[in-house]
Amino acid sequence: MSDLVTIKLPDIGDISTVEVIEVLVAEGDVVAVEDSLITVESDKASMEIPSPVAGTISRLLIKVGSEVGEGADLMVVEATTEAVAAEPTTNAASDGQTDTNNSSAPASAPDNVESKSTDQSSDAHAPGHAHTNASVVDQSAIDNADFSADLVVLGAGPGGYTAAFRAADLGLSVVLIERYPDLGGVCLNVGCIPSKALLHTGQIINEAADLADHGVVFNKPEIDIDKLRSFKEKVITQLTSGLKGLAKQRKVTVVHGHGVFASANTVSVTDDNKNTQTIGFKQAIIAAGSQSVKIPGLPYDDERLMDSTGALALADIPKRLLVIGGGIIGLEMGCVYDALGTAVTVVELSDGLMPGADRDLVRPLEKRLKKRFESIFLSSKVTAIDATDAGLKVTFEGGSAPSSDTFDRVLLSVGRTPNGLNIEAGKAGVKVSERGFISVDGQQRTNVPHIFAIGDIVGQPMLAHKATHEGKTAAEVAAGMKSWFDAKTIPSVAYTDPEVAWMGLTETDAKTQGIAYEKGVFPWAASGRSLANGRNEGVTKVLYDAETGRLLGAGITGTNAGELIAEAVLALEMGADIQDIALTVHPHPTLSETLNFACEVAEGTVTDLYAPKKAPKH
Ligand SMILES: Cc1cc2nc3c(=O)[nH]c(=O)nc-3n(C[C@H](O)[C@H](O)[C@H](O)COP(=O)(O)OP(=O)(O)OC[C@H]3O[C@@H](n4cnc5c(N)ncnc54)[C@H](O)[C@@H]3O)c2cc1C
Repeated sequence: MSDLVTIKLPDIGDISTVEVIEVLVAEGDVVAVEDSLITVESDKASMEIPSPVAGTISRLLIKVGSEVGEGADLMVVEATTEAVAAEPTTNAASDGQTDTNNSSAPASAPDNVESKSTDQSSDAHAPGHAHTNASVVDQSAIDNADFSADLVVLGAGPGGYTAAFRAADLGLSVVLIERYPDLGGVCLNVGCIPSKALLHTGQIINEAADLADHGVVFNKPEIDIDKLRSFKEKVITQLTSGLKGLAKQRKVTVVHGHGVFASANTVSVTDDNKNTQTIGFKQAIIAAGSQSVKIPGLPYDDERLMDSTGALALADIPKRLLVIGGGIIGLEMGCVYDALGTAVTVVELSDGLMPGADRDLVRPLEKRLKKRFESIFLSSKVTAIDATDAGLKVTFEGGSAPSSDTFDRVLLSVGRTPNGLNIEAGKAGVKVSERGFISVDGQQRTNVPHIFAIGDIVGQPMLAHKATHEGKTAAEVAAGMKSWFDAKTIPSVAYTDPEVAWMGLTETDAKTQGIAYEKGVFPWAASGRSLANGRNEGVTKVLYDAETGRLLGAGITGTNAGELIAEAVLALEMGADIQDIALTVHPHPTLSETLNFACEVAEGTVTDLYAPKKAPKH
């Protein structure tokens, strides 16, 4: 059995009319409850209107360009009785959402959009709350809040503060919620910035020592750890206080406290004094980030067992440090402590450092670290750590690791896990995976269209530059722009010594996914600049499509690889082919030439190497 149901435009808050900018269904299409039917746009926001019923589209009553207001007829759907009956019952005609064209309409006519949408959530919800569409604002929840804004941003890391600032610049009133006293999140406070401040110091120490090979011998450096720590803190304070000023200039209201969703239009924020306030919002952006993964059963109450935050605190320079996890963060911190004089051991579960990166890129780093670090144990794991007076006694299993050894400090660096399970997202109807990730579409919308998510919480790669760009997209979409996050690649950089950077297609992925490619490789041993720098262990490679010559990916290992990879990223975004890069005149002598040369190798035109090659096909 079926009934004809006219779907109407639901309550769109204080907007009188909106324009239909997209019709997402055609007559004859079968739709399920919550399937998007049309996209409408006002000067404030664009939003998709979901179907309140399941059935077949019988007649479209609007088209692209139609101006519609609340209650306007959108389309007629031949609703399946089962689907209609399965929905909660209300007087559909009187709520301005749906009515029936059929006098035999069942008593159990569909509910309005908002209550059905929240019923999709696995969490219980308060009666009357919750709209899962930007067009349906629960004004009473907002009115009952302590205060409200167009947009609430939960979390002030690089994703969150970027989104808040961009949205404010676009005219939205914005509340930015952060549980810690300083803005900037992991990146500024305990991540990218402090680690790079210390890595820079380590790099200079190493460069000074390496100058002995050039006939210049410096004395062994004296390290004033308190001063080094203060330098790092000063850098952080400069940046975080800068953010505070930028928020003030933009009139972004910053609220400090732990925020959790109370409904689809309200967040509760509890400060350190246990005072709670409720903030209403029309739209929200979740930017709550991630935290270090913990292996169960380790003695976390012993401060000698550190995560990356503890390692960056630089309590002392331990004689012997064990780094558990040979990924980017573990190796960066290993390089810092190594330069400061610590004997560093790394234990890694897989059979190579920096899993995921191409082996030929990691090799020069592995070679240098093998010489500098005390030990690197691959295919090995830690099974227990006992806190003793002499140090942390670590038990190993597998690979070439000893059965046990004692270290002054241990850094646990085995990955990061998203904070999605700590924000009661279900109360807003936002779906969170078991691991705490939140899925989003290309506009950063969650399954609840007026709630967006960005940064580490939406998935890999967990990198600050991904978070900031996603933040801008979400803010722009919230402000009504037709923005889309469609980056062709997110570059990855390990700021180790040497640095390892890659972007686009990796050879590892090309092989596992069966993607055809050709490559050009330029060893830095043939680069005049790298020889002059005394660091010629690097390599630059490009992957490209054999037929078209189009750049597919690139990887660089060597000093400053993190800066150099940006050119390849731009080339990929611009759809460049390797001939474009090979014919681009790069300044000499620079490390940037190595990308030029790698493309010349691919083209068969290189003269700085003897690498004859048949003429290119493209
Ligand atoms: C040691 C280290 C080095 C790194 N180095 C680099 C690097 O060089 N380059 C790079 O690109 N990336 C680096 N990263 C990763 C980078 O820091 C993250 O990808 C980035 O910070 C993610 O930004 P985000 O905005 O998603 O979240 P975060 O930076 O994690 O910010 C989330 C914010 O939300 C707040 N928050 C969470 N829950 C709540 C709540 N319920 N209520 C209120 N506030 C809440 C948190 O306090 C935090 O301030 C590094 C990470 C670490 C740990």
